[in-house]
Amino acid sequence: MAAAKETHYVYADGSCLGNPGPGGWAAVIVKPGGVSNTIFGGDPATTNNRMELTAAIEGLRIIPNGTRVVLRTDSQYVVKTMTLGWKRKQNIDLWEKLDHEAAQREVRFEWVEGHAGDPLNEEADRNARNAAMTAAKGGRVHYHGLSIVGGAGTAPASEDYGADNNSVRELRPLLAADEAIRRCVGCGRAYVGPVGDAPPYCALASCQLKSRRAAHTKER
Ligand SMILES: [Zn+2]
Repeated sequence: MAAAKETHYVYADGSCLGNPGPGGWAAVIVKPGGVSNTIFGGDPATTNNRMELTAAIEGLRIIPNGTRVVLRTDSQYVVKTMTLGWKRKQNIDLWEKLDHEAAQREVRFEWVEGHAGDPLNEEADRNARNAAMTAAKGGRVHYHGLSIVGGAGTAPASEDYGADNNSVRELRPLLAADEAIRRCVGCGRAYVGPVGDAPPYCALASCQLKSRRAAHTKER
């Protein structure tokens, strides 16, 4: 098959207030068309690793089977266990779930440095921490499909362009028929690109560099 498969990007992150303690997880998903969604949830008594794993599981779960997925997380625990076969001693229930979801898609696990300025990683982190704080207060944190229900306070609409949501709302009616608003997986900003499944990177040189590096490693 010559046509490139559409790629979904998942930024997954977990957070725990104390370890163990109340925790939250979140996943920012950028679909092939460049639209992003955020999902999150919380647990009043959990561990950091369980939240990291849950973020990856839930992030994958809402992506259609058979698709190509790049899953980015700052958890070495998740990436190295999945890519280097680190021995599994705990959380066997969650590893089984992650295996199950990963087996149904073509998933590439990539490690990103946490708190290092990757905007979508930071957005996932922010949502996970909000969900953990809601869980700590005994709040119910919960999502249903792509529409978000919950008390974490930063719940984005089902179409989410982060800090650019207001500009996107004003820009949308001004677009030409062959233009679409997308979310760049390099810098996290909304940009105007072509309709279709072009890689979701904006035209900034730094993001084009990331895009070309990503395409290069994909060829292996
Ligand atoms: Zn960009």
